Amino acid sequence: MPIRKFADGEVVMGRWPGSVLYYEVQVTSYDDVAHLYTVKYKDGTELALKESDIRSQSSFKLRKSQSSSSSPSRRSSSRSRSRSRSPGRPAKGRRRSASQSREHKDDKKKTIQETSLVLAVLVLLKPSENNTKRYNGEPESTEKNDTSCIILEQKLKPDLEIKRVLEQYSLRSRKDDKKTEEIFSEKKTFVAVKPVEKVPSKTKELEFGGRIGTFMLIFLLPATVFYLLLMCKQDDPSLLNVPPLPALESLWEWRVFGIFLLWFFLQAVFSLLPIGKVVEGLPLSNGRKLQYRINGVYAFILTAAAIGVLLYFQFELHYLYDHFMQFAVSAAAFSLALSIYLYVRSLKAPEEELAPGGNSGYFIYDFFTGHELNPRIGSFDLKYFCELRPGLIGWVVINLAMLLAEMKIHNLSMPSLSMILVNSFQLLYVVDALWNEEAILTTMDITHDGFGFMLAFGDLVWVPFVYSLQAFYLVGHPTTVTWPVAAAITVLNCVGYYIFRSANSQKNNFRRNPADPKLANLKFIPTATGKGLLVTGWWGFVRHPNYLGDIIMALAWSLPCGFNHILPYFYVIYFICLLVHREARDEHHCKQKYGLAWERYCQRVPYRIFPYIY
Ligand code: NDP
Repeated sequence: MPIRKFADGEVVMGRWPGSVLYYEVQVTSYDDVAHLYTVKYKDGTELALKESDIRSQSSFKLRKSQSSSSSPSRRSSSRSRSRSRSPGRPAKGRRRSASQSREHKDDKKKTIQETSLVLAVLVLLKPSENNTKRYNGEPESTEKNDTSCIILEQKLKPDLEIKRVLEQYSLRSRKDDKKTEEIFSEKKTFVAVKPVEKVPSKTKELEFGGRIGTFMLIFLLPATVFYLLLMCKQDDPSLLNVPPLPALESLWEWRVFGIFLLWFFLQAVFSLLPIGKVVEGLPLSNGRKLQYRINGVYAFILTAAAIGVLLYFQFELHYLYDHFMQFAVSAAAFSLALSIYLYVRSLKAPEEELAPGGNSGYFIYDFFTGHELNPRIGSFDLKYFCELRPGLIGWVVINLAMLLAEMKIHNLSMPSLSMILVNSFQLLYVVDALWNEEAILTTMDITHDGFGFMLAFGDLVWVPFVYSLQAFYLVGHPTTVTWPVAAAITVLNCVGYYIFRSANSQKNNFRRNPADPKLANLKFIPTATGKGLLVTGWWGFVRHPNYLGDIIMALAWSLPCGFNHILPYFYVIYFICLLVHREARDEHHCKQKYGLAWERYCQRVPYRIFPYIY
C-alpha cells in the first residue's frame, strides 16, 4: 500500500516538468490511484507531479549547501557538461556572486535569482530593448514563476538553447523571426522542443452542477428539444400554451431511423474519402499530435450533389418536415447508444488518453462530459467527425426541407423573404465552419472536452433540430419582412460574421504560427507554457470577441421571425447563456493554465464578451 510522503497544504519544492528547476509549491491534493500530487505554483499554475519530482524544503536546503547547483539532477550532470552549455552558464561571475550570497538567502529567493540570471543572460545576449518592450509591454512578468518553464536540455548546443529559451519567452520581435530562422535553419532538426510531459490527473473540479447537475441534464436536454418541437408545431406557440403530449408510438418509425442511419454512415464514408489535406492537431498531454483529414467542404459538395439528385428524381424532401419529431427521436436514440459505446470503450483507454475535463471517476459525470478525449476507430476520429459533419450538414438539409415544405404548404412559387434570410444566414455559418474546418482543432471541444453524451447529443440532436427552429417556425407561422428590414438584418448578420470570423482566424493563426508575418503588428503576453496571449487586435477588444460575433449573428437569425412569439428567439437566449457559461469555463481553465499571465491579460482586457457591459 503506497504511503504518501507530502501532506495537503505542505509547502515543498516542485520540479517544473521537463526542466531541472525547482520552485516553491504548495501541495493541494493527492491522487492515490495515479499517485500524483496536485501542486500549485506561486503564479497560480496547477500541475500534477510525481513524488520523485517533489523535494521537501529541508532536503533541498541541505543539498543546496553541498552543491552549487540548484537541483540534484543538475548537480550530477555538471561534471560532464561544459559550463557554457546552458543559457545560465555564460554569466559565470554573476553565478558566483549568487552562490556567495546563497548562504544568507532563503531558497525562494535563490530560485527566483536563478531564473532572473538566466533571463539577464538572455537579455545580454539579445540586447534589444525594443524587443523586450514590444513582446508584451510587461517586463516584470519575467520575475515570476512564468519563467519557470525554461528547459535546460543538457545536450543542446548553447546557441540552440538560447534560441529555444528565446522562443519560450518570445524575447524577440516577431520581425526578427525570419533572421533567427535563417541563423538556425541548418540545425532545425535539433531544435524541436521536447514536449513537456503532463500526466492527466483526475478531474477534481466538476462542472455543469457536478454529478446531480449532469444527471439532470441527461434528461433535461432531450426534454427541451421535444418541448420546443412540440411548441413549434402549435398554431399558437406562446409559452403558456403547453402542447399536448403525443402518443408514444407516434414518435418512432423504423423507416425514419433507417434514413437517419443511412445519413450518418454516408457522412462517415464522405469523411473517410482520401481527398483533402491531412493536418496535425495541437499536441496532446503526451506530446503526440493526431492527424485529421480536412475534407468537410468536399463532403458538403457531395451531399449537395446527392440532394440535387434526389430532388431531380422527385424525392419529397419535406418528408423531413412531416416526420421531424421522429427524426429527432431517432437521432436522440442513436446519440444515447453512441454515448454508451463511448463510455464503455473509454474504460479500456490508457490514462493519458482520457479527457482533462471528464476523468472524475464518477460514472454519470464522465458519461455526460466524455471520458475519452479523442476516441478513434483506426484513423476515424468519432468526435471530430460528429462535431462538423452529420449534425452541421444535417442542419442545412433540414433548413432546405423547411423551405420546400413552406412553399408546398402555402402554395408559394418561391420561398418567403424571411425563410430566405434564415436559410442563407445559417448556410453561410455552416459553410464557414466547413471552410475553416481546421480551426476547430484549437477549440475547447477538441482540446479539452471528452466525447460523451454532452457532445454526442449536442452534435447529433441539439444542433440540427434546435438550430433549425427558426426555419421550422416559419413553415407554420409565416412572417412578412419588408426589404429595408431585411437589409438591416443582413447588415447585422454581416457585422456579426465579420467579428466572429476575423477573431477566430486571428487566434487560430496565432496558435498555429505565432511568427506569422501577418500577425507581426499584434502584441501578446508570454506565459509559462510557451504560448502567448494576444492583447491587441480582436483579443485585446474583449476576451471572447468570437462569442460576441456569434451572438450578434444569432440575433440576426431570429429577427426574420418577427416579434409575435418568443419561441424563435429561444436560440439567441439559449446561446447567450451557453456562451456566458462557456466563457466562465474557459476563463477557469485559462487561469489554471496561465496563472499570473492570465490575470495580467484580464487586467489589460477587462471585458469578457460585451464591451463596457460584461
Ligand atoms: P475559443 O475559440 O474562444 O477558444 C478559447 C481558447 O482560446 C482558450 O482556452 C485559450 O486556449 C485561447 N485563448 C484565449 N484567450 C486568448 C488570447 N488572448 N490569445 C490567444 N489565445 C487565447 O473557444 P470555443 O471552443 O469556445 O469557441 C470556438 C468558436 O466556436 C467560437 O467562435 C464560438 O462562438 C463557437 N461556438 C459555437 C457554438 C455553437 O453552438 N454554435 C458552441 C460553442 C462555440 P489556448 O491558450 O490553450 O490556445
